[in-house]
Amino acid sequence: MTQPLVVFDNVVKHFGSFVAVEPMNLEIYKGEFVAIMGSSGCGKTTTLRMLAGLDKPSSGEIRLNGQRINDLYSWQRDTPLVWQNLALFPFLNVVENVEFGLRMRGMAKAARRKKALQWLERLDLGEFATRDISMLSGGQRQRVALARSLVTEPSILLLDEPLSALDARLSVRMQAVLTGLQKDLGITFVYVTHSQSEAFAMADRVVIMSRGRVEQIGSPKHIFLEPHNSFVAEFVGGKNIFAGVVLGFVDTGLLQIDSPYGRFRARLPEGRTVALGEKVTVCIGAENINLTTQPTADSRLSGTVVGEEFNGSMVNVYLETRDGLELQVQRPSTDYHALELKAGQTVHAGWADARALILRGN
Ligand code: ATP
Repeated sequence: MTQPLVVFDNVVKHFGSFVAVEPMNLEIYKGEFVAIMGSSGCGKTTTLRMLAGLDKPSSGEIRLNGQRINDLYSWQRDTPLVWQNLALFPFLNVVENVEFGLRMRGMAKAARRKKALQWLERLDLGEFATRDISMLSGGQRQRVALARSLVTEPSILLLDEPLSALDARLSVRMQAVLTGLQKDLGITFVYVTHSQSEAFAMADRVVIMSRGRVEQIGSPKHIFLEPHNSFVAEFVGGKNIFAGVVLGFVDTGLLQIDSPYGRFRARLPEGRTVALGEKVTVCIGAENINLTTQPTADSRLSGTVVGEEFNGSMVNVYLETRDGLELQVQRPSTDYHALELKAGQTVHAGWADARALILRGN
């Protein structure tokens, strides 16, 4: 098996008595795009800063290419960081900003200028080489910051919320620029964001953090389909999460459970074991629930529609059951409209057994 490029081996970070990062174990491989995601204060920037050499782990070891780097200063490791505020030098023009890192490395003027210009071309900034930084748009500055970090051809690039200052349209365009560059160059990206859409659109693997703890690491698809616990399920959104009790074992990996929504079957994820009578947390993705006007073999409960949110091709539907419980359902708009529901009409919600997932933790 290939050796990871980066290893966090039981890395902990305290600020005084406050634990910003709990024992963290993470391996990042060459050429991967890893996003670290979580809400404000969860420790994602601290994790990135430790990798960049701007904060020192309180304990544990960080390795880059198999070498311990805990004690190396930021300039002694090859881990440049692109910030949200970009930190471009206002007193240097575009090309001078880009060649700065090469100048620090002692590269001769003609060679570094040539290289900087090549990177500007690559990022569609050739015509702005001699412009002042203050005369660039947000997206252009963003690309200058990228060129400045990439010109030294690092094996890994760290990015801290680099798109958060851009408007939504530009942010989506920059996502394409970033993923294109990352794949073309084969550079490893470690990307911190609080935005699920950014992380899920770009990353090969996502690390979800909460309160200094890693809650789950996996591909966007895996995290969306198999959240490990209710924190992750709520964080990714669009999930119905509720408590249940194990009533029996139906088949390999399939249980009978009792819940406020009734008795039905649910899937046990691989590796998780449960006992009869055990309390579990059940998660059903809104996109896995079907609606019909007549009961079918898949129908599990019925209710009335109390809310609808149209979102272009999809619609989020909120059902209220007879017991006053709410169920979130997501349907393609065309399917939903075809039901032609009248106000107050009863609808039946159904799902395949395996779509009700028992979470690994609570
Ligand atoms: P945000 O999205 O708001 O930037 P984050 O997930 O990146 O949040 P961090 O910056 O890693 O969060 O901070 C994690 C926790 O550590 C926060 O509670 C923060 O207040 C605390 N913290 C960070 N740096 C320091 C410091 N130098 N001294 C004391 N506490 C700190």
